[in-house]
Amino acid sequence: MKRLFRKMEGRSGIHFVYLFVLAYTILALVWWGVLLFNQSEQITRFEMQNLMLRTDSIAHPVEFHQESDRIQTTEERRSVMFFGEGIIFLAIILLGGFFVYRSIWKQMRLSQQQQNFMMAVTHELKSPIAAAKLNLETLRKHKLDEEKRLKLLDNTIRETNRLDQLCNNILLASQMEAQRYQLFREDINFSDLLETGIREMQSRISTHTIQAHILPDVWINGDKFMLQILLSNLVENAVKYAPRHTVIDVTLEECSGSMLKLKVTDEGPGIPVDERDRIFLKFYRIGNENTRKAKGSGLGLFLSRKIVQQHGGAIVVKDNVPAGASFEITWPVYSIQRV
Ligand code: ADP
Repeated sequence: MKRLFRKMEGRSGIHFVYLFVLAYTILALVWWGVLLFNQSEQITRFEMQNLMLRTDSIAHPVEFHQESDRIQTTEERRSVMFFGEGIIFLAIILLGGFFVYRSIWKQMRLSQQQQNFMMAVTHELKSPIAAAKLNLETLRKHKLDEEKRLKLLDNTIRETNRLDQLCNNILLASQMEAQRYQLFREDINFSDLLETGIREMQSRISTHTIQAHILPDVWINGDKFMLQILLSNLVENAVKYAPRHTVIDVTLEECSGSMLKLKVTDEGPGIPVDERDRIFLKFYRIGNENTRKAKGSGLGLFLSRKIVQQHGGAIVVKDNVPAGASFEITWPVYSIQRV
């Protein structure tokens, strides 16, 4: 609570300083504008007085009027110039202010998300290591029956898989950010890749049933490792967020306009409409870190979208009927090899 208060204090402090500086700059501009107009009026008044002293308006009416018109026109020109420049300055200040505010806001959000990420990731890295260590020590110290031994080994493999996925996500995210990851493209039997991935995941996931409806013999040109990570991130999310003993469906199908569609659908809580864009941002997790039950890093969907985009596709999330989320990926270019 204290920390939240301090955080809010920090944020509103920055907002206050920013608004103060912006308001001060605008007021200073207005003030200088008023001073310049006053000065211009004084110059005109002074020039008119000078003219009256220099030229007799009755003896030389034409010269007097010509000179007086020139003074008035000069004043009008000066006013237009001050006004125009003032408006341009104001526009530049407001535009600059808008961009500065946007980047401050983005920076603050990113640093907040990085803090959340550090909190989440520290736990995520430590807990599988601790669990695996405990399981291995138990296996070494005690003579256990075969069933218990297998259970402990299964559990250890599950934990190390979780660790492996997290490490992959962290490394890939940083490589993609630095644009250091080069796709290793090759022709892949995408249907086989999905079938094998789903079989492997189902063998270690006993809490959910993974149903596969995979169009056979679909070949795509892509990076095998990346596409495995994509599938694993989407299915692991469904496992994480959907209740136990529900069904996760993975479908690969042809859809209109020679498009290929991959759908990963679950029966969990779904994604609220206003969160559907944000969940693909780096480190973004729905809700508050302290109230979130499922652990995670906020990198899975960020990476998934990057992988899909690098393969020339698009990913969206929709509602599953009657409940749950449906992640749909469409690729425009593909080739189906019929055997
Ligand atoms: P992580 O799962 O590690 O938090 P992700 O980037 O994979 O990070 O997901 C971002 C957020 O989107 C998650 O924190 C979660 O709130 C939400 N989310 C992702 N997949 C699902 C799903 N299948 N059902 C409900 N919410 C989900």
